[in-house]
Amino acid sequence: MKDKDIYFFKQLLTEQLETLLGQADIVVQDLIKNDHQTSPDPVDRANFESERATMLRIKDRESKLIRKIQRSLKNLENGRFGICEMCEKEIAIERLKARPVTTHCIECKKKMEALER
Ligand SMILES: [Zn+2]
Repeated sequence: MKDKDIYFFKQLLTEQLETLLGQADIVVQDLIKNDHQTSPDPVDRANFESERATMLRIKDRESKLIRKIQRSLKNLENGRFGICEMCEKEIAIERLKARPVTTHCIECKKKMEALER
């Protein structure tokens, strides 16, 4: 991979990571706030609970993405970025631009999805 591509992905991933980490903070603050809003109305309470569950689900997805981004950034450092983990071939740059956290080339991804089915 060219230096300028490495630079490009580093910028892109760092930006995404910062955005995600910023959002994660907001979600946590909301959760803490909602903890104190214990309403005597059971309908209200149920609403808070389902909101909380939704937020936790989003948070879970976010933390997985954060880990993926951190891994991609590490791969950028050690020169493993853009190399398919299965076949060791270079992943197409267009694919990486669409989804920088990807760790598999399109062929292997298809194979994996076929196996999951
Ligand atoms: Zn592959």
